Amino acid sequence: MQELICFDMDNTLVYANKLHIIAYNRAFIKNGLPPVNEEKLKSLFGIIGYKLIKILFPKLKIKDAKKIQKDHNKIAVKLAEKYIKPVKGAKTALKKLRKKYILALITNCSKEEVNAILKAAGIEKNIFKVIVSNEMIKRPKPAPDPVIYVIKKVGVKKGYMVGDTIYDIKAGKKARLKTIGVLTGNQPEKILKKEKPNIILKSVAELPKYLC
Ligand SMILES: [Mg+2]
Repeated sequence: MQELICFDMDNTLVYANKLHIIAYNRAFIKNGLPPVNEEKLKSLFGIIGYKLIKILFPKLKIKDAKKIQKDHNKIAVKLAEKYIKPVKGAKTALKKLRKKYILALITNCSKEEVNAILKAAGIEKNIFKVIVSNEMIKRPKPAPDPVIYVIKKVGVKKGYMVGDTIYDIKAGKKARLKTIGVLTGNQPEKILKKEKPNIILKSVAELPKYLC
């Protein structure tokens, strides 16, 4: 039986730092908040938007943080074409893996962001049997919910969760998948190692070597 591979999107399949740094800061300024430095923002990527915003501005109400997240999303959709770059070798790796595995995408981005980001990266949306975006589930990664959603949808329990952050590894483990960390994001190897993924790779380009 075919196994499953669930991919995170940002900083796993595409480099997304630049896009989200600019989009967050424009959204903050639009809402009368000060811009936040790049390193601080990068350290929080992987956390869903409104929670990331609440960490930076704890006094905000949840509903205001959610509104700012929506502003960020709109800006990110507009700027994706300009700032998104695919991870080198990601597209080739996906094509190879697709022959043997069922592929899914699990992201804390919105549906519109996913469409814009994949398009900008030249990644065919249809390569994924299921795409889970942030409006589809109540509890995002690091909760296992989006992974369990995919498992139920495709009817396959065995496989892998691949991502650049501890949130991807945690979600995958809780859903009882094997987990693979990649070093194309902002979290260094020693941080990923603490979550004990099955393997840590430099990037998704190395995946077919291990899984095909
Ligand atoms: Mg990521």
